Amino acid sequence: MNADKHTPDPVVGRYRVIPILHEGAMAQTHTANATPAIQEASGLPGKLVADWHDRAIARLGELLKERRGLQVFMDTCTKCGACTDKCHYFLGTADPKNMPVARQDLIRSVYRRHFTLAGKLFPKLVGARDLDKPMLEDWYRYFHQCSECRRCTVFCPKGIDTSEVTMAGREILAAIGLGQQYSQEIIGKVNSVGNNLGMKKPALANVLESLEEDILDETGLAIRLPLDDATADMLVVTPSADFFAEPHVDGLIGMAKVLHAAGIHWTLSSEASEAANFALFTGQHDQMQAIALRISTAAQSLGVSRIVMGECGHAWRVAYSFMDTLVGGFDYLDPEHPRPEHICELSHELLQSGLITLDPSRNADKVVTFHDSCNVARGAGMGNIKGGQFTIPRALLRASVPQLVEMSSDTTHQKTFCCGGGGGLLTDDLMEVRVKGALPRAQALQAVVSSDKVTHLVAICAICKTQLSQVLPQHDLADVQVTSLHHLVGDALVL
Ligand code: SF4
Ligand code: SF4
Repeated sequence: MNADKHTPDPVVGRYRVIPILHEGAMAQTHTANATPAIQEASGLPGKLVADWHDRAIARLGELLKERRGLQVFMDTCTKCGACTDKCHYFLGTADPKNMPVARQDLIRSVYRRHFTLAGKLFPKLVGARDLDKPMLEDWYRYFHQCSECRRCTVFCPKGIDTSEVTMAGREILAAIGLGQQYSQEIIGKVNSVGNNLGMKKPALANVLESLEEDILDETGLAIRLPLDDATADMLVVTPSADFFAEPHVDGLIGMAKVLHAAGIHWTLSSEASEAANFALFTGQHDQMQAIALRISTAAQSLGVSRIVMGECGHAWRVAYSFMDTLVGGFDYLDPEHPRPEHICELSHELLQSGLITLDPSRNADKVVTFHDSCNVARGAGMGNIKGGQFTIPRALLRASVPQLVEMSSDTTHQKTFCCGGGGGLLTDDLMEVRVKGALPRAQALQAVVSSDKVTHLVAICAICKTQLSQVLPQHDLADVQVTSLHHLVGDALVL
């Protein structure tokens, strides 16, 4: 693991335990600030502005007006404590500032000081604090130790959404010159080139061509991965990790096999070659809209009547929950398919209507478990059935493999634990946070590996796949293979 870690790695035990508090355990962790060039490319100050305090308070005031939920979250916490042991980063690091309520209080105490009468008159009595330099440093540290997964929200009797507080904190930080390098750089590349990697059209076309050759070698079939095909009916938008990274790429190949088998005329777009929308993580609504508009503009210029999103958790949340508002509606799509659909939804529909056939015996060597990704589980639905985000991927899996084993029910469905790398934390400079934050997921996985000899962990999120592939070996789970759902679907498909 990283050489400069500050506290020992937690041990994967049989039971989840609430750790003994370790004050300041993660206080040395600091993800890199965005460079002046990266900041300025997004219209943000290149470095911390001289009047940062006043600008931060002013921006907080604006956000309280713009985002009514934020105002409600500031006022309604009763300090009941129900959320304290629900965050994977607290469970993995033991740092009390990683308790959700403590994370919220980073902003709530400043809110009280500047926006409530009691806080202005008797600050100490009501836990009000000004935004001084140490507080500003805590904002940067601990708002980048939250993956905005919303698990704590499920347990909060007031429904307080810590992710919204984190987003507001990051948005204010970026506005005063303290953006995060990792997320802001990615947003810049999507805006300028079309994907997180900054991969231009000729490079993307080459990658797709070589994948087509791989599929031909494997199946003997000319299965295409079309790019910018203006005669296509369907635009597929997938995370750019699918084009080259393991285990993602096998998922893209599986998707291509399904679309081929069903006879669907589809295409990828070089203008919208990225499903991810990191502006959700940074809380910058204007950027989130610009990134979402790329997809809608590409769909209209290609003249497609359907949009399908690949295996990307937060991209699906944006597409399902926000995109209609962000892009001004989808009146150009087929009325039968009037909004972006999930690839799992499509494959499931094809399976049910008999347009594809799956043979689970082709995956007979695998025992799989399914990791619900936060943004799908708690931020979106799927299909036209309540809870479709849970049942549809599982139905596809059951049709593709002989044995699906569920992890403990307090770590799946709505209560799923984050992989530890979501929300803009999937960067090497946060590796310690990522390894420790993966502890609860690793514990639940370890239990089914011991009891049922699980060999594969399946996910439908690009971040989960990367994060879990990298950190599970740190938890003695190197033998478990992290897999795309559509890899297994593609292998089970009768072509
Ligand atoms: S990481 Fe998830 S559980 Fe932890 S505070 Fe953030 S939203 Fe809540
Ligand atoms: S569960 Fe909700 S109300 Fe209770 S302490 Fe946490 S944020 Fe506050």
